[in-house]
Amino acid sequence: MNTSAHDFATTGRPRLQGKHALITGAGSGIGSAIAELFAREGADLALLDLTAAPAKAVGDALMKTTGRRMVAVGADVSSATQVDTAIAEAIDALGGLDILINCAGINVFGDPLQTTEQDWRRCLDTNLAGAWHCIRAALPTMLAAGYGHVVNIASVHGHKIIPGAFPYPVAKHGLIGLTRSLGIEYAARGIRVNSISPGLIMTPAAERYFQSCPDPEAERLRQAELLPCKRIGKPEEVAYAALFLASDEARFVNATDLLIDGGRSQIYHD
Ligand code: NAD
Repeated sequence: MNTSAHDFATTGRPRLQGKHALITGAGSGIGSAIAELFAREGADLALLDLTAAPAKAVGDALMKTTGRRMVAVGADVSSATQVDTAIAEAIDALGGLDILINCAGINVFGDPLQTTEQDWRRCLDTNLAGAWHCIRAALPTMLAAGYGHVVNIASVHGHKIIPGAFPYPVAKHGLIGLTRSLGIEYAARGIRVNSISPGLIMTPAAERYFQSCPDPEAERLRQAELLPCKRIGKPEEVAYAALFLASDEARFVNATDLLIDGGRSQIYHD
C-alpha cells in the first residue's frame, strides 16, 4: 500500500534507468561530469564532441565502470549539417532519445571594439546556434514520443555582465532566451526545456583561463575570494542539477534557469 501523500519519482532505483541521453561537449569538464553521473544513474549515452576521440575516451571508461551503452560521435555544433548527421547516427545507435544536454561551449572574452567579426561569429555560432542546431535535430524524435527533456548549459554571464568578457554574455543571454522560448513552444507536447547557469567551475576551460593570467595562483585565490562560499565550484555540482532537470522529478519545471554559482550573482557590491 502506498502510504505517501506525494507522487515522488524516486524509489531507490537509478534515476535515469532506461533513458537515452545525448550530451554535447562530453569530452571534457562539465559535460564529462554529467556523462559520468547520468551513466551511474542508469542512462545509455551518446557523447558528442568536436571529434569523436575525446567522447570515445570518456565513453569507454564509463562503459567499463557502469556497463551502460555508450555511443561517441564527432561534430562541430556550429555546423547544422554536421549536427544533423551526428545526432541521426546517435539516435539510430541508441534506439531513441529522451534527454539532450547542450554543454558544448567556448569562452570568447574581449573588448567589444577589439572583437573581430570572426570572434563574434565563432562565439554566437558555438554557444547559441550550436544549442539550437542540436535541439532542432533532436526534437522530431522527442515529439514523436511525446516526451523529452532538454537542458542547456548557460552561465552567470547570461544574467550579469563582467566588463571585458564580450561577446560571451551576449550568447549566454541568448541561450537563456532560447530555453524560455522553446520551453513554451513545446510544453503541451511533452517537451521541457530548462537551462543551468553555472558560476566559476573548475574545469579544463577554467584552468586555461587561469594559465593565461600573469600569476595563475593569485588569480585562482582572487576568484575564490569573490565567491560568498570562498571556493570555486566543481563539475559534479553542475551535474547533480542537470540530473534533476533531466529526470522526471523535475516534470513540472519548464522554461526556467537554475543559477549554480554559490550565491555570487546576488551580490550588488563587494
Ligand atoms: P571545457 O572546455 O572543459 O569543455 C567543453 C567541451 O566542449 C570540450 O570538450 C570541447 O571540445 C567541446 N566543444 C567546444 N566547442 C565545440 C563545438 N563547436 N562543437 C562540439 N563540441 C565543442 O569547458 P567547460 O568549462 O566544461 O564548459 C562547459 C560548458 O559550461 C560551456 O558551455 C561553458 O560556456 C559553460 N560554463 C562553464 C563555466 C566554468 O566556469 N567552467 C561557467 C559557466 C558556464
